[in-house]
Amino acid sequence: MGSLPFTVSDLQTSTNGARSSPTLLCTPLMGTTVDQMLIEMGKAKEIGADVVEIRLDCLRTFNPRQDLEILIKRSSLPTLVTYRPIWEGGQYEGDENKRQDALRLAMEMGANYIDVELEVAHDFNSSIDGKKPDNFKVIVSSHNFHNTPSAEAIGNLVARIQATGADIVKIATTALDITDCARIFQIMVHSQVPTIGIVMGERGLISRLLSPKFGGYLTYGALEAGAISAPGQPTAKDLLDLYNFRLIGPDTKVYGIIGKPVGHSKSPLLFNAAFKSVGLDAVYVHYLVDDVEKFFNTYSSIDWSGCSCTIPHKEAALKCMDEIDPIAKKIGAINNIVRRPDGKLIAFNTDYIGAISAIEDGLRGLNGTIPSAGSPLAGKLFVVLGAGGAGKSLAYGAAQKGARVVVANRTFERAKELADKVGGQAMTLAEVENFHPEEGMVLANTTSVGMKPKIDLTPISKEALKHYCVVFDAIYTPKDTRLLREARETGAVVVYGTEMLIRQGFEQYKNFTGLPAPEDLFRQLMEKHA
Ligand code: NAP
Repeated sequence: MGSLPFTVSDLQTSTNGARSSPTLLCTPLMGTTVDQMLIEMGKAKEIGADVVEIRLDCLRTFNPRQDLEILIKRSSLPTLVTYRPIWEGGQYEGDENKRQDALRLAMEMGANYIDVELEVAHDFNSSIDGKKPDNFKVIVSSHNFHNTPSAEAIGNLVARIQATGADIVKIATTALDITDCARIFQIMVHSQVPTIGIVMGERGLISRLLSPKFGGYLTYGALEAGAISAPGQPTAKDLLDLYNFRLIGPDTKVYGIIGKPVGHSKSPLLFNAAFKSVGLDAVYVHYLVDDVEKFFNTYSSIDWSGCSCTIPHKEAALKCMDEIDPIAKKIGAINNIVRRPDGKLIAFNTDYIGAISAIEDGLRGLNGTIPSAGSPLAGKLFVVLGAGGAGKSLAYGAAQKGARVVVANRTFERAKELADKVGGQAMTLAEVENFHPEEGMVLANTTSVGMKPKIDLTPISKEALKHYCVVFDAIYTPKDTRLLREARETGAVVVYGTEMLIRQGFEQYKNFTGLPAPEDLFRQLMEKHA
């Protein structure tokens, strides 16, 4: 019982050694009238769906012969007809014979598929025995709205479904944890009959996105975000445009961002566009992870090729790694994990590389700077405001480049702890106001002071800024903070938090792929989706 790690062979082929045909994208039609459904059909075709699911139970009034004739005959896409009863999560609560009659009628009228529930499938399939038209298939489905059973229990369920004479097996379970998807992937890979495996709910998203990797027969994509037919369903448009659904196959390497929450992350947009631009067989998904250790133990084969790591897992993920970049280890936080060809996980912190390289470029851009081979930070007095996650990255990064580091923090003890670790000096935020042992210092704000919505605040007075030649602000909402505006007015070169954000992404891409990042593409997408 429980989640089993994949082996390489699991990921690459089905049991007969051949990849099943490409996974279909099916868009459910949820209109409450026939006319609405016809409009939805047009939209589904336009978006690029392969099949439409006509959800008869959504219709407010239904005249079987007349309505099915219109819906099936007028559809320019193959049709899957479903008439889901209330006892299986649908909306139909009428007579069971009438419901099954309508499904038989749909078959006679040329529907390509009908979906019938396991509970009634045996009798239903007997009733159409010998009458099935060519190119018509029966999907026998089972829905579990509570959890995802053990691999063994799911295997037994598949056997029961197959025994009904199903052409296609459909199993939909509910994800309590992202690792539940692994058991459904396993079933899809090993099933002898075409199988639709779906794990419902936010934590089941990858079961839908990665269906083509594991040979799923079909996956569902909603017409609009608000019109889903089951929890956790992505839109067809996101499947196609955001996650490059059509490009996913058995050998596709899977990357993603682990976090909680994670749905807001724009990283999939950047990485998937980048992979596509250079023809890499890779996809980058959102991983909503509760338990990092369980996640890495479950998705442990080499096709789970790496991930970005965000709040709250940047520290907890450390203990799951086989190797940690020395500076990331000192910082005590990682945001980039790569699986090496030998299966081992190696972790980096690209936040500090992104920020430090942006500040170095800021220093190089100063008037009268003589280009040198080493870091322009070497020997500089570098004042870090803040001693949290970003503060640590900046302090360690600057120290590594040979800067003399000062850490100033509201809570002095945290400043002291960090300053001691990087061999620097500690002070309170208030003390920074009168701190100017020399001119031309570098300032890096890593406190959240000045971040949206409190954009009128700033961590240091404009007067004190005149001793700095370069001022960096880690805050990127807004891009142009009060601190940076005032620094510009005092004549300093300013470095935006958005630069740190984008450059840490370049580093992650390099670590994932071994290739240079498509920097212009990343910048364009960031600009467009800011
Ligand atoms: P964190 O670990 O929670 O640290 C927050 C820091 O801000 C602490 O030093 C804290 O001081 C200080 N602080 C908070 N409220 C303050 C106040 N009212 N007055 C003075 N100091 C205050 O957060 P983090 O992850 O380091 O993030 C900090 C900022 O950096 C955020 O704005 C975040 O968006 C940004 N960031 C940007 C990037 C990027 O790519 N550009 C990456 C990471 C973070 P105490 O120790 O006294 O509480």
